[in-house]
Amino acid sequence: MVAPQVGVDFSFDTPGKARQIPTSQFMSFQDLGLSDEVVHGAQRMGYVDPSPIQLRSFPVVLAGKDLIASAQTGTGKTAAFALPILTRLKHELGYPRCLVLEPTRELAMQVETAFRDYARFMHIEITCLFGGVGYGKQREELKRGPDIICATPGRLLDFMEQGEVKLNRIEILVLDEVDRMLDMGFLPDVRRIIQQCPKERQTLLYSATVPNEIQSLANWCLRDPEKIEIGARRSPAESVKHAIYPVAADQKFDLLLALLEATHYQSVLIFTRTKEGADRITRKLKEEKHSVTTLHSNRTQQERIDALEGFKSGKYEVMVATDIAARGIDIAGVSHVINYDVPQHPEDYVHRIGRTGRAEATGDAFTIMTAEELPYVKEIERFIGQKVERTKLEGFNYIYSAVFDEARVEALLKGAKGVRTHKGMRFGVTKRRKR
Ligand code: AMP
Repeated sequence: MVAPQVGVDFSFDTPGKARQIPTSQFMSFQDLGLSDEVVHGAQRMGYVDPSPIQLRSFPVVLAGKDLIASAQTGTGKTAAFALPILTRLKHELGYPRCLVLEPTRELAMQVETAFRDYARFMHIEITCLFGGVGYGKQREELKRGPDIICATPGRLLDFMEQGEVKLNRIEILVLDEVDRMLDMGFLPDVRRIIQQCPKERQTLLYSATVPNEIQSLANWCLRDPEKIEIGARRSPAESVKHAIYPVAADQKFDLLLALLEATHYQSVLIFTRTKEGADRITRKLKEEKHSVTTLHSNRTQQERIDALEGFKSGKYEVMVATDIAARGIDIAGVSHVINYDVPQHPEDYVHRIGRTGRAEATGDAFTIMTAEELPYVKEIERFIGQKVERTKLEGFNYIYSAVFDEARVEALLKGAKGVRTHKGMRFGVTKRRKR
C-alpha cells in the first residue's frame, strides 16, 4: 500500500473555514469509509481534506480496534475519533454507547460541541457532564438516553453512584488527554469508571506523552492496540519566534507591562504557574487599564465560559491562564504568548508556545525568566533540543540581577545542590554541612 502523501503546513485554528492543514493530496473524506452524513458534517465545518492523524485513525477506529495515539491538540485529533465513532454508531438507540472522558470541563464541552457539529445531519443524542454547575439540567439530559456522553471523571462518578447513568452498554470508550488526567490526579477515578464498562468494548487512548503510569493504564485497559504517533512535537512550531527575557524578580510585572506596551498584538495569552498568580496579574493589569480576563480552575463554570467567549470574540485582548485550564482549548488568533512564569514541565512550554503556532504562522512567544527559574529554562532547552535566545527590552530600566550572568547562577546552583524551597531553587548563602 502506498502511504498517503501529506503536506507539512500546520496551522488550523480558524473555526468554520478551511484551514491550512497538513492534508492528503490523494485522499478525501469520501474515500475513507465514513458515512455520507458524517462526511457532510465535516464538510460543513469547512474541512476539505483529512489531516495525518485522521488518515491514520479512521481505519483503526472503523475496524473496531483499540488505539493508543500520541497526538497533541491542534492536529485534528477530535475529528480523528469523532467522525469514525459517529459512522459506527449510525443513529440514535437511546442509551449510552460511547463515553469520552476529558480532564477539564472546557475540553468536555469543546468535544461535545465538535460531536454535535459533525453529527448535524444525523439523529443521535449527545450530552456533556461536568462539575461546577447544578445537576438538574444534566440529569434531564441523561433521562433522554444519550448515545454519546462527554464527561469529566468526577461528575460522571457522581451520576454513576446515584444510579443515574449506567455504562454497561458502552461500546466505545475514549480516554482523551490522558497525560493531563494523570497530572490532575484523575487516574484512580478513570480506573473506577473503566471497571464499570463492559470488557468487550473498543478503547481509544489519546495522550501527548506516554509516561510509565499511562503505559500501565494502557496495558490494563487496551487490547492489542494499534499505535499512532503524530505531531509529537518536541520542538515548538517553527513559525513561532520565541525569546527569553531575563529580569530581576522584583521587576517581573514591570517588564510584563513594558512588553505589552512595546508589542503590537491582537491577543495575548499570559501563563502563570498558579491560580493565585493569575488572579494577581489580572488585577494588576486591570489597574493598568488593560482589557483582561482570567481562566483557571477556581473560577466558576460561568466565569470560565465568559472568559473564553470574551477572549475569542476580542472583548478581552489579554487572557491570563494556568496550564491546566488552558490546555487543549481551541482558541483562534492568539498573536502572542507570554510566560510570566517559566513552566516547570518542559512539555508545557511546547504546549503554551503552540498556542500561537496553531493560530497564525507569525506568533511570538516570550518567556520572562528570573534567576531561580534558570534550571527550568535549561530543562526546556534540553527537551526541545535548542537554545532559546536571551533578549533585553530596549528602553526598559533594568536593575541588576544574577540572572544576567547565567554561568554564575549555575555555579551557585551547583553549590546549593538539593536546596529547594517551595517556590523553586534557593541559592546564594547556602552553607554546606560539615562532615
Ligand atoms: P483538535 O486537534 O481536534 O483540537 O482540532 C484543532 C482544530 O482543527 C479545530 O478547530 C478543528 O475544527 C480543526 N480541524 C480538524 N480537522 C480538520 C480538517 N480535516 N481540516 C480543517 N480543519 C480541521
